[in-house]
Amino acid sequence: GEAKNPVIEDVKPPPLAGANVMNIILVSAECAPWSKTGGLGDVAGSLPKALARRGHRVMVVAPMYGNYAETQNTGVRKVYKVDGQDMEVNFFQAYIDGVDFVFIESPVFRNLEHNIYGGNRMDILKRMILFCKAAVEVPWHVPCGGICYGDGNLAFIANDWHTALLPVYLKAYYRDNGLMQFTRSILVIHNIAHQGRGPVADFIYVDLPEHYKDLFKFYDPVGGEHFNIFAAGLKTADRVVTVSHGYSWELKTPEGGWGLHGIINENDWKFRGIVNGIDTKDWNPQCDVNLTSDGYTNYSLETLKTGKPQCKAALQKELGLPIREDVPVISFIGRLDHQKGVDLIAEAIPWMMDQDVQLIMLGTGRPDLEQMLRQFENHHHDKIRGWVGFSVKMAHRITAGADILLMPSRFEPCGLNQLYAMNYGTIPVVHAVGGLRDTVHPFDPFNESGLGWTFDSADANKLIHALGNCLLTYREYKQSWEGLQRRGMMQDLSWDNAAQNYEEVLVAAKYQW
Ligand code: ADP
Repeated sequence: GEAKNPVIEDVKPPPLAGANVMNIILVSAECAPWSKTGGLGDVAGSLPKALARRGHRVMVVAPMYGNYAETQNTGVRKVYKVDGQDMEVNFFQAYIDGVDFVFIESPVFRNLEHNIYGGNRMDILKRMILFCKAAVEVPWHVPCGGICYGDGNLAFIANDWHTALLPVYLKAYYRDNGLMQFTRSILVIHNIAHQGRGPVADFIYVDLPEHYKDLFKFYDPVGGEHFNIFAAGLKTADRVVTVSHGYSWELKTPEGGWGLHGIINENDWKFRGIVNGIDTKDWNPQCDVNLTSDGYTNYSLETLKTGKPQCKAALQKELGLPIREDVPVISFIGRLDHQKGVDLIAEAIPWMMDQDVQLIMLGTGRPDLEQMLRQFENHHHDKIRGWVGFSVKMAHRITAGADILLMPSRFEPCGLNQLYAMNYGTIPVVHAVGGLRDTVHPFDPFNESGLGWTFDSADANKLIHALGNCLLTYREYKQSWEGLQRRGMMQDLSWDNAAQNYEEVLVAAKYQW
């Protein structure tokens, strides 16, 4: 009849790239849904599709860690030398949602889907060398839809240290020889903490002319003089993207740059921060499949006032907490480690337990912190649930049912949970670092603007202060609270938005060299 699907109705076609249409090849050590350890995998799985929707011809190149049923063997085989040894690779291919996915198959990648960065330093270094050597040649050797990409209007997007060799190979093997003159390379920093460090002697493995050695040589007080792949990639890439503005800024400081801040400052002109998008099909309260049973319900901006309380009651019921609409439900979801600031929450718990609140924490990680979660639940059974485990379903249900999300991360390149929370009308209380600083604009009661509460140092008292103000608003200023929820839910957090920004960087790399 007349009823229209509200989700489909909401989808606006993204603007097209027009005259800027390019051939884009994103190269990544992990790519969701096939392989993923964190945000990098999500970016590799989502950004290319959004770029393709804008009209670009887009390829993703990733290692093949398992048997990927949807792919076909292209029959293309190549041999690359790594550490003096001939290594043969096979290229598999699939065309999905407008993107050419090319997987590089070799015995060194096989069965590593749950251990992508496993093995000793030499194992992983050799894997990444093989991967980058093969990836930089994909536009020549692997036909997609019958036609190779070639070098016309081509740009590579490399990601983190694992593929930071690609911009270097592009230069040393091609550009230095007069080839691929107009091909550009972008390097994206998702996490600077891992850099592909090793002794200077490691240079022999990367198979580059001797005069490239200095590019990799790097000195810092922690590592002394050493070999550093990320450093070489940052110097060579035409542009560098970080996954938020805040992170881009922090990388320039001694604390945030993990030794590389000097190089980053010198190359400041090529840096740009672009906040990751979220998967708005998976993480959408309107069609979230995890909310269709056990008393939960899908909801939208229009049904927020009934739908979200229903999810809250279902969550309280599922976890055996007192079912009360008026009590604020505070949540935490994430890896239990030092980065995520779980210890700050722990310090704030005595204060929280003096308030009329419920606290739900979901996470896995450091055994002592897992034990701590269980203890909190035991000691405060009427108020706290500490769920030790990795459950995507519970992550969705908590995001829908909770009123508040805590993210006291010490550093956070982008962060996804705060974006999911805002999309579900759950108010974030965050440490203002990296992507959290970019995305959670502080609530301003005078203008009724902003999206949540922030605090400016990783300190439990600061967290308590911010959370206290948040709870006060929840209890006393219902209108303001609803405003916060609505502003959060109305944002465009999609990949289409991020893809447009990436396109700007690619265009800048092409014309403003
Ligand atoms: P990071 O990549 O540093 O771990 P992000 O916030 O970028 O942090 O992404 C974390 C992702 O992992 C989010 O999608 C979050 O929901 C999910 N996640 C983390 N811990 C759990 C858990 N215990 N159960 C389910 N999902 C989790």
